[in-house]
Amino acid sequence: MPEGHTVHRIANAFSADFEGKKVLVSSPQGRFTDAEQVSGKKLTQAKAHGKQLFLFFGKDIVRIHLGIYGKWSFQPFTANPPAPVGAVRARFQITNQVADLRGPTACEVIDQQQLSVALAKLGPDPLAKDKTGKELKKFVEKVTGSARPIAELLMNQSVIAGVGNVYRAELLFRAKLNPFVAGKLVPSSVAQEIWLDASKLMPIGVKTGMMLTRDGFLKGKPPLEDRYYVYKRAGEKCRECGGKIKLEILAGRKLYFCPRCQK
Ligand SMILES: [Zn+2]
Repeated sequence: MPEGHTVHRIANAFSADFEGKKVLVSSPQGRFTDAEQVSGKKLTQAKAHGKQLFLFFGKDIVRIHLGIYGKWSFQPFTANPPAPVGAVRARFQITNQVADLRGPTACEVIDQQQLSVALAKLGPDPLAKDKTGKELKKFVEKVTGSARPIAELLMNQSVIAGVGNVYRAELLFRAKLNPFVAGKLVPSSVAQEIWLDASKLMPIGVKTGMMLTRDGFLKGKPPLEDRYYVYKRAGEKCRECGGKIKLEILAGRKLYFCPRCQK
């Protein structure tokens, strides 16, 4: 499943190439019935919050959530746009490029009021600018006010928006925190540290398209097997203590951690 950095990259691609231009919006698969409502209008802004993308066409906003299977493909063209291939839910077309969306969980046109409702359901996003520290505070309050395990809270989009399974596992390892500890038992300073770490790591994901989480491997293009401390490394040796990385299922999702480092 794409994590927040992927969605922010898509928002950046729309801002760079589509913003300020009239966009033809269509529904090749016939399932995006709201397409007509925005087609031919100017894209005024593209914005991501967590794993959701909002494309503003004046007062009308297309809300997109990729879910598990959703995917974007951008294709430049010169004369004629390429024919849609496969089940394209929505196509966004400008004079020299198409962006095709396949398999999203949500793709709908909403208004300002519905946008407020959608945003209110989402927790703070470590990729959003947080000059005043308000977002950090919100996150710390949500964590320390909950009896749920910290590993579950980090996957809860109303607690922190954009973090998925990879960043969750890696952030907890970096904090040397037991994934099963209740949020309310996590010291505020540790919750704060996790937020600041996410705010440091996730922009690297936006920039490079890779989830780089290991100190010493935050630059360049490290091979996949070198990128993570614990994610997808069940049964392998912990890079720090030599113990065995463990895999457990928590709230239906795979959780990787080092029981020795994360006590
Ligand atoms: Zn370890």
